Amino acid sequence: MSELSVLLVEDNPRNLKLARDVLEYAGFAVTAVTTGEEALPAARRGMPDVILMDLQLPGIDGHAALEQLRGDPRTSGIPVVAVSAFAMPADRERALGSGFDGYLEKPISVRHLPDEVRRHVRGADGPR
Ligand code: MN
Repeated sequence: MSELSVLLVEDNPRNLKLARDVLEYAGFAVTAVTTGEEALPAARRGMPDVILMDLQLPGIDGHAALEQLRGDPRTSGIPVVAVSAFAMPADRERALGSGFDGYLEKPISVRHLPDEVRRHVRGADGPR
């Protein structure tokens, strides 16, 4: 079985390192960018199996970056999971309503992150 690839979009260095370490240890191939602007070009280059998208980013936010990914036929089918520190239930609803495939709350669970990511890859409902 070839390893699954994940693109992390996260501006906080500590959060990025934690997610990267956990996913690499679990056998994922991880690439990362720190701004929403870089998400689309990085996704086009690497064609990851799944993208974890921080919602609060400098410059364009996670919602705007998702729109760019969905607007490009090459990347529109890649599952994108929102990651947010917002504790508001409405934030989750908004993220799922605006087209994210999933929603993870920070702080991320070191124990559950790999399974959450796998679940979204396998749960992808085919090409859009
Ligand atoms: Mn952030």
